[in-house]
Amino acid sequence: MKKIQSVRGMPDVLPASSARRQWLENAARRLLQACGYREIRLPLLEHTALFARSVGESTDIVSKEMYTFTDRSGDSVTLRPEGTAGCVRACEEHGLLYNQTQRLWYAGPMFRYERPQKGRYRQFEQIGAECFGFEGPDIDAELIILTAELWRELGVDDAVTLELNTLGSPEARAAYRDALVAWLTPYRDDLDPDSQRRLLQNPLRILDSKVARTREIIADAPSFMDYLDADSAAHFEGLEGLLENAGLPYVVNPRIVRGLDYYTRTVFEWTTDRLGAQGTICAGGRYDGLVAQLGGRPTPAVGFAMGIERVLLLAEALDAVPASVDRAVDVYLLSLDDVHTSAALALARELRAQVPGLRLQLHCGGGKPKARLKRADASGAELALILGEDELAGGKVSVKALRAGGEQRVMTRDGLLKELLQLAAARNERPAMKGETASE
Ligand code: ATP
Ligand code: MG
Repeated sequence: MKKIQSVRGMPDVLPASSARRQWLENAARRLLQACGYREIRLPLLEHTALFARSVGESTDIVSKEMYTFTDRSGDSVTLRPEGTAGCVRACEEHGLLYNQTQRLWYAGPMFRYERPQKGRYRQFEQIGAECFGFEGPDIDAELIILTAELWRELGVDDAVTLELNTLGSPEARAAYRDALVAWLTPYRDDLDPDSQRRLLQNPLRILDSKVARTREIIADAPSFMDYLDADSAAHFEGLEGLLENAGLPYVVNPRIVRGLDYYTRTVFEWTTDRLGAQGTICAGGRYDGLVAQLGGRPTPAVGFAMGIERVLLLAEALDAVPASVDRAVDVYLLSLDDVHTSAALALARELRAQVPGLRLQLHCGGGKPKARLKRADASGAELALILGEDELAGGKVSVKALRAGGEQRVMTRDGLLKELLQLAAARNERPAMKGETASE
């Protein structure tokens, strides 16, 4: 019988890879929570109308990428392709936007029916943040600086560029849209087929085209800066000033228009040239009109989402993942025969309680001493702790260095404890940042 395989574009995340994801997620969670952001967990399934009304009918996501189906009661539902729409829906539904500001974050899988390739999947994970009720550019700066901080912690900051643009007010955008369509229409037949379609549906996205001939044509197109409204221009200047004062380099890229309809004013992308065509690792911007568009009171809002798989691919390409992340086990504890299993179980519990963060695996499954030691080695642990008759009688433990030379020592409980505390501390240490000297 033919074995059943996973659905195309929906990769399994095996243990070796999930440890790396945790490393990344932990860093993001720590940073977001250090800035006072609170987690919101949202359903994977929403009414289809939510995305049609927020993301926009003419976008790639809604027009061709959604997993939409009719459930058993005849309702049209969709696996969420992104997190912002559901977040706004939930905030409105529970009154979280009434007379208050919110700083929220979320993490989890998103679903888009795309052509799978490296860095592009049909199920992929995002970590995102959304802020509501803040009008000024200070919050835009906070979000952008927060992401820059994350790249620094992950050690990928040298390989990423912050690209910034403003889309202005909806009115300015509409006026520009008309001007752009008028300007592009004479070139219609020279545009690539996607751009021809977008000319009617989503003309701003043509600016984002990767097709060489199309890019040549748009090089001379009217500039949005000539249509930008004064308030949006002031907002953008404010943001630029804050980023400059924070020492954060960026480039203004008028081609950044984002695929989604709901953006206004600030839009940004963090890009890298190390991942080929899937070079955007994080994208975000302001969507001041969305809450009202979904039936709420007008509420300024801004957010970002990063693609976990792409950030990880980048960290791996740069060899930035610390070795300790891949070590599932620090210490392997074994007795030399089954008589001492209870003593080993007790010691394991004791050490785990005394050494926070220690990963101590206990030998299970019996076997001869040699076979047990072989398993200790295969576990990837740094140290094997060996309990035998002599050790138990003397209240001591034999400690074998599994990686460095295989040296074996007999240690007292106190000496062992000190060594394990050091080992666990080294694992849990925040990666030293550039410019900081690593602590002793
Ligand atoms: P792209 O232009 O690459 O399709 P997008 O504009 O559709 O990206 P967003 O909707 O802004 O992407 O999503 C935010 C981030 O989520 C992207 O910058 C990317 O890192 C990640 N992402 C989007 N789609 C996918 C996917 N199919 N597979 C993996 N990551 C994705
Ligand atoms: Mg896309």
